[in-house]
Amino acid sequence: MASAQRPLDLLAWYIEAGADEAIGREPRNRFADAAARRETPSASPPPPKPPPPSNPARPPAAQSAQAIAAACATVDELVAAIAAFDGCTLKETATNTVIYDGNPRGRVLFVGEAPGSEEDRRGVPFVGPAGRLLDRMLAAIGLDRAGVCISNMLFWRPPGNRSPTADEIATCLPFARRLIELVKPDVLVLVGGISAKAMFGRSEGITRLRGVWHNYRSPGLDGPIDAIATFHPAYLLRSPIQKRDAWRDLLAIKARLADTG
Ligand code: URA
Repeated sequence: MASAQRPLDLLAWYIEAGADEAIGREPRNRFADAAARRETPSASPPPPKPPPPSNPARPPAAQSAQAIAAACATVDELVAAIAAFDGCTLKETATNTVIYDGNPRGRVLFVGEAPGSEEDRRGVPFVGPAGRLLDRMLAAIGLDRAGVCISNMLFWRPPGNRSPTADEIATCLPFARRLIELVKPDVLVLVGGISAKAMFGRSEGITRLRGVWHNYRSPGLDGPIDAIATFHPAYLLRSPIQKRDAWRDLLAIKARLADTG
């Protein structure tokens, strides 16, 4: 660790650890907050109780997330259950739980990766630079947030925007899948490789997975949903050359909505 005599080294160490911005005037120990939350009985009704874990191959938090998510019958119940869930350690360093924006009765559901710093601060998905590009992409095919629902695989910001771990993805996946079942969109768009791989259960990268239609199936759905993966707008900001392929994906989404509308 850097010595306190070298403030620049100390700052560099904070940034490397993910503490890359000031969000309050006084320091606050969020690990102590989380411990207190676990010990203090809450005034609001407790979330549904999970049955005992049954699949030893998945982390225990994912098993309890699975049972909690399955017990939610509406989007509002799911939102409350995710907000009350303490099984993902990302929550301990996040400022806000970020679940969805837009219209949960919309025909299209976009699922991205995880909140970034602006999303974490405001509690709304896709409101930073990538979100502003996503809004322009929607507008290009006649869509906006009033007509679509926008969410993420993970509901808390990974510190310093690092990639989520396999355990963090497995823990949040049951909630993200349940959101798809409850929204039942006509078209599911997986934004970026993390959500495409997790939702399709595939190991290939986004370049291979994008641009083709998949049948997304889940036990809580009556039938398959048309699903397509596309490049993440944050990647498009770094690699504008890929916008050509992303545009093809957007046109495919527009055509599918016209065909099925
Ligand atoms: N990137 C994402 O994947 N989701 C957000 O909400 C913001 C940036």
